[in-house]
Amino acid sequence: MDPITNIIDLAIERRRRGPRFNGEMMQILEVSRDLICLCRAGAITAINGAGARMLGAKTTEELIGRRLAEFLIPEYGQVLELFLAGMASEDRGVPTRIIGLDRALHDIELQVYRAREIGPDATVVTGRDMSKEGKLAGAAQQTDTRFHLLVDNSMNLVCHVVAGSIRYVNKAGIALLGAVEAEQVIGLRLEDILHPDYAPLVDDIAKEGAAVPLRLLHRDGTAFDALVRATVLPATGMGPEMMVEARDITGHNRAVTALRRSNETLEMRVASRTRELAAQRNRAEEMTLVAEASRRFSESLIDTIPSPVWFKDALGRVQTCNRAFRALFGDGELKTLLPLEDTVTDAELLSGACEQAAFEAPILPPVGARVDAMVLKSAYLDEEGRPVGIIGVMTDISDRKAMERELRRLATVDPLTGAFNRRHFLATAATELERAHRYGNPLTVLMLDVDHFKSINDHHGHAVGDQALCLLVDTLRKALRDIDVVGRLGGEEFAVLLPETGMAGALVTAERLRAQVAAARVPLPDGSQTSFTISIGAAAPHGGDCSVELILAKADKALYRAKDSGRNQVCTEVIDPA
Ligand code: GH3
Ligand code: MG
Ligand code: MG
Repeated sequence: MDPITNIIDLAIERRRRGPRFNGEMMQILEVSRDLICLCRAGAITAINGAGARMLGAKTTEELIGRRLAEFLIPEYGQVLELFLAGMASEDRGVPTRIIGLDRALHDIELQVYRAREIGPDATVVTGRDMSKEGKLAGAAQQTDTRFHLLVDNSMNLVCHVVAGSIRYVNKAGIALLGAVEAEQVIGLRLEDILHPDYAPLVDDIAKEGAAVPLRLLHRDGTAFDALVRATVLPATGMGPEMMVEARDITGHNRAVTALRRSNETLEMRVASRTRELAAQRNRAEEMTLVAEASRRFSESLIDTIPSPVWFKDALGRVQTCNRAFRALFGDGELKTLLPLEDTVTDAELLSGACEQAAFEAPILPPVGARVDAMVLKSAYLDEEGRPVGIIGVMTDISDRKAMERELRRLATVDPLTGAFNRRHFLATAATELERAHRYGNPLTVLMLDVDHFKSINDHHGHAVGDQALCLLVDTLRKALRDIDVVGRLGGEEFAVLLPETGMAGALVTAERLRAQVAAARVPLPDGSQTSFTISIGAAAPHGGDCSVELILAKADKALYRAKDSGRNQVCTEVIDPA
């Protein structure tokens, strides 16, 4: 403790016990850093050096006789006058502000003591420079102001609760509680702003320490969700103090609820999507089964088709085929089995040049007989109409082809003898004549007629006559080369075309024919035999062009000469160059 204060305390103590002030004491008080002066009727009669410095005087003498009140700034002057007039309390100092002779301001705590021992109007005044403490107090106040500024502008409710009742509330708190001014809130008990359901928890809030979600009440009685935290403040003797903060979390809760709901919706969506996917999967499985069943059905359907059916991809590989196809081709390469036309039509189908193609082709399968087939093919188009493969079906048309060939043959041959008929013989003769003329090759035509054929019919019947005609053609065939052509021109009249044969060679041939026919025997129904002869007329073009009609006419002329000359002989007729 300050020794001077001690001395003053001693002086006070002594005065209580009845001490006396004198001059020496002032000398002693010179050591004090506080102002100590003796006043008579408010005027300074003695003052120590510290007091003189506080009052801005260079010496203590300057101040003697001046009224102490002169140095006090007006607001404090009156206070001092009161003190000086004997109303001063010795119990505690009074803060005042003085202005010195040097115009410097000092915050001083003055204390006035009556000194009746010196005189009825005597007072002893002590003054403690408070500037330092004042500055601290100012700083504290500034901090306080700043604190209040911060608290006041906080977005959350902040209130100061002393002994359970609200002493201070910030602006945000007033607004949050739905009040207009602080007075509506100050004085309320903490439970007054809590929803009744939460009111019993009021004492637990401070104990909790952490923020707790509660329901608070607006002044109009409506409730809202808030996050509340209470901080216990150091005790000041006024009862338990705490700072309560609260934040409106209605929006937050709404957001959380919305989020939760959206999550639930999401979950529901996920669940329904999962179900949907499962259903889709089931459907897909079902469809796979259906597709598999339909594939099996199609397969057995196309297997029952007796014609070979196949599907080739764009690269020409057989992807699907039926049983008939496999039976015909085995595992053979279709490409090597089908004619070139197949490859050509495939290219056309795949290029989009046409959508269907058909051709007839003889197929020579690896095993079995040749098959005459009609191949029908269609381009297989994808969803966008592009050809991506070929569907082919092959019909066995061997029977039809055979029939066609037979009809064609029947159209060209004489049904009785098998020799070419007149029309076909004439056509063939024309072709051969043309070729012979072009290449300068020889050619001879023979005309044959059965001698007295009428009498064969007459003696043995028409059937034997027919038999004789067949024997004739048979004999001719055997005696002739493959390239020689035999035709029945009508009745029992025949013609033989001998390509590459000049008249000399033809005469040898004709003579051979005549002899062999004469040697042939026709069996008769009674087991006996008969025979017949033929007359032959031969004609050959003598260089240059020659028509079929002309050469036949010439051969016919030679034939009649042979008849006229006694039958069973060969006559010739040479065509003169035109
Ligand atoms: P020639 O020696 O002068 O030729 O006497 P020919 O009896 O052979 O001559 P003719 O022309 O008088 O008689 C031909 C006969 O041939 C008449 C006809 O009934 C017969 N004939 C024609 N075509 C056939 C046939 O397909 N079968 C049978 N059996 N007879 C036929
Ligand atoms: Mg005849
Ligand atoms: Mg005749």
